[in-house]
Order: sequence, then C-alpha cells, then structure tokens
Amino acid sequence: MSNQLIRARAAGGQVRALAITATAMVEEARSRHNTWPTATAALGRSLMAAALLGATLKNGETVTLRIFGDGPLGGIIAQAGADGCVRGYVQEPQTDLPPKAPGKLDVGRAVGQGHLYITKDLGLKEPYTGTSPLVSGEIAEDLTYYFAQSEQTPSVVALGVLVAPSGEVIAAGGYLIQLLPGAEEEVVKQLETNVDAVRQVSDLVGQGLRAERILETVLAGMELQVLESKEVRFDCRCSKERLGGVLVSLGWQELAEMAAQGGAELKCHFCEEVYHFNKAELEQLMQEL
Ligand SMILES: [Zn+2]
Repeated sequence: MSNQLIRARAAGGQVRALAITATAMVEEARSRHNTWPTATAALGRSLMAAALLGATLKNGETVTLRIFGDGPLGGIIAQAGADGCVRGYVQEPQTDLPPKAPGKLDVGRAVGQGHLYITKDLGLKEPYTGTSPLVSGEIAEDLTYYFAQSEQTPSVVALGVLVAPSGEVIAAGGYLIQLLPGAEEEVVKQLETNVDAVRQVSDLVGQGLRAERILETVLAGMELQVLESKEVRFDCRCSKERLGGVLVSLGWQELAEMAAQGGAELKCHFCEEVYHFNKAELEQLMQEL
C-alpha cells in the first residue's frame, strides 16, 4: 500500500491515534493541479487532514475541510469519505513563497489569517459544520486548536509534506493523537514527553517510515494497539453525468447559448478533469429541462 492510514489506540484505550503516509496521493494532487511547492505543501497537509478526519466515518458519510485565509493561496478545500477516497484543490495553485528556513515551506504565510470549517455530512437532513479561527495557517496547529475549542478534545496533530527542488513530492505523512475523557495525568505527561522528543513529522516520513512506525515512535512505551489499516487514494467522484447536472442547473438560456457556440467544456475543480459537451449533448440536456 503506497498510501496507508491506520487507526489505533494506546494506553489501554485512553489515547486514540491515527496515522497516514500519503506520498503518492499528495504527488497525484500536485500533478493534477500543477501546484507550486508552498501550495503543494498546503494542499497535501489539507488532504491528509481530511483523510484523518474521514477515518472515523461510516459508509456513505463524508467530511469536508475548508480553510479560508487571506493569504495568496486563497481557499483550500479537501474532502474525504469513509472509503478512503480523498479529493481537493487550492484556489491559487501556482503559489510559492520564499521558505521561512532552509527546507521549511512557509505554508502559514501562504494561507494567512482566517477560519477553518469542518463539515460532516452524515446523511442526516443538515450536515454539521464546526469552525474555528486559524492560529498559524500551518494547518496542523489550526486543527489542534479546532479540536480543543470546538470539540473540547486535547489533540496533537502533525502533518508534513517534503517537496523536492524539482517540485515533486518526496514524502508526505502525519498523525492525529487524541486524549479521551478521563485520561490519567501520567498518560498526558508521557505523551507530552514523547511528542517533544520526536523530530518533525516530515523528518519521520522523509526517512520512509510507514504509518505504523510513526505511531510506534510517537507513542513509544504506551502500549500501541493497531485496530485497522486501510488504503487511501486521491479519487474524485465526478463524472460526465454529474457535470451535466451542473450544466442543467445553469438554465435553458445558458445551455442554448453554449449550444449555439457549438459546445462547452467543463472542468472539475476537485481533480482538473475536463468534460466536453457537444452541441447534440447540450440540446439533449435542454430537453431534460
Ligand atoms: Zn473531479
């Protein structure tokens, strides 16, 4: 499995842990959207965050992470389902800023100040949306703050994307560790000590550590138990039929104009796939109206 997500627990169930390695998934996102390094890191971290958030969903449920900052990247949207399919995009993919230190992409400045929104669609009437202000724009820190503020769950989130000078993704991975209600003081202390001792998550994934090894490192001495391992991948649910539905929603007049021009081209924001509709197909859609 080139993209792997594992769900685990530790300290006899006082700690919930998830880890992901997703180098191939983030590289696919980069090549589809032609992102530049800072945008690649921001999108990659967001896609992995969505995958981690999606890990606890049931079949048919989806989670959408939206990050709206005032930086040059514009918005970032990442969506994941229980099936491990993840998709997403960034508004300004050709964003690259000078690194804040050698090898440290300045995602925080590219994102800027604003808010993040997490929407869970559990198949109920109204999807649930939670929000919190961005703390640093570095995404992992912003999520940590979200969990503390919105869900009152003490968490450690780490997300790392290493980008080669050529622009390709060398490594991507991360983890989410949460303390469950009633966690003992000893467990809290040990987790803090471990997290302080572990190097940056991008160093861990850069060494080629798999998801389980990442958790074994961060949760050393804490009785790690892996509960589930699954594959995640960049996969969009778009189709010509769905995009046809979008065209229909534009109305008869709009469709007639496109047909008069001989056809239309529609691009899916999430994956950059282009769908062509010729005159006859547009006229067919008009008949559906
Ligand atoms: Zn698509």
